[in-house]
Amino acid sequence: MIYLGVCGWPVAHSRSPQMHNAALAAVGLDDWRYLRLPLPPDLFAETVRALPAAGFRGVNVTIPHKEAALAVADQASEAARAIGAANTLTFADGVIVADNTDAPGLLAALPFTPVGRTVLVLGAGGAGRAAAWAMKTAGAADVAVWNRAPERAVALAAELGVRAATAPGPAQIVINCTSVGLHDPAATFKALPLRADELGAGSLVVDMVYRAGGTHLLEAARTRGAGVVDGLEILVAQGAASFERWTGLEAPREAMRAAATTIAEP
Ligand code: NAP
Repeated sequence: MIYLGVCGWPVAHSRSPQMHNAALAAVGLDDWRYLRLPLPPDLFAETVRALPAAGFRGVNVTIPHKEAALAVADQASEAARAIGAANTLTFADGVIVADNTDAPGLLAALPFTPVGRTVLVLGAGGAGRAAAWAMKTAGAADVAVWNRAPERAVALAAELGVRAATAPGPAQIVINCTSVGLHDPAATFKALPLRADELGAGSLVVDMVYRAGGTHLLEAARTRGAGVVDGLEILVAQGAASFERWTGLEAPREAMRAAATTIAEP
C-alpha cells in the first residue's frame, strides 16, 4: 500500500481525503490511500521525517504547519521559498521536497490571466501570501494587500514587492484570503474593507473560503453582476497540482470536484 495524507491541527474539517481518494479510485491507483493525519505542532517535524519509511509518498499540509513544512524539507520550489510556506511535501529517494500549490491552484482557477490587472488581496496570512505572490509573478499591474492587523500587510508587501493598503480602493480582481465568511457569513461586509455596490460587472471576486451553499461575499458579487471564483475551485486546482506531483498522472479534476462538493458541511 502507498500512502498520501493531509497533516493539520485540527484537520477534521478537511475535504482533501475524500477528494484525493476519489481521484485515486478514478485513475485506478487501487493500492494507494489518502489519510487524515491530525498532528499537534510539537510532533510535526519528527512525524513527517518518519512518514516515508511508513510507506508515504507525500502529504498535504494545512493550518498551522505550512511554515514548519518548508523548514523540515531538504529542497523547496521557488514558489514555496518565495511565499515562505509549503502545502505539499513529496518524499522521493530519501529527500523531502516542499512545494506550494495554493499559488498555481489560484491561477488555474481564474477565468482569465491577471496580466495588467489591478488586484486587491484581503488577508496577509498563508493564503494571502500565496495569492499576492501568484498575482505579482503572473504579471498583475498592481497588487494591493490589506490586513486587519496592518503590520502584517506591511511586512508581506516589503517581502514580496507588492503594496500594503490601509484603505484600499476598487480593483479589477478582489481576492478574499481572510477566514471571514467561514463561520458568520453575515459579518463579511462589516469585517472587510469592501462595499457590496463596488463589486459590479467588470470585476472578478475570488473567495478562498468555501462552505456548503457558497459564501455571502460571492452571493453579493454575483447578484451585482461580478464574475466569481468559489474557493472550492481553488481547493480542486491546488489538490490536482499536488496529485500530479505525487503520482505523475493527470489529475481527474471532475472526480475531485464532485467529491469535494458533495461532502456535507461538518
Ligand atoms: P491564516 O494564515 O490563519 O490567516 C488568516 C487571515 O484571516 C489573516 O489575514 C487574519 O487577519 C484574517 N482574519 C481572521 N479573522 C478576521 C476578521 N474577523 N476580520 C478580518 N480579518 C480576519 O489562514 P490562511 O491559511 O491564510 O487561510 C485563510 C482562509 O483561506 C481560510 O478560511 C482557509 O480555509 C482558506 N483557504 C482556502 C484554500 C482553498 O484551497 N480554497 C487554500 C488556503 C486557504 P489578522 O492577521 O489580522 O489576524
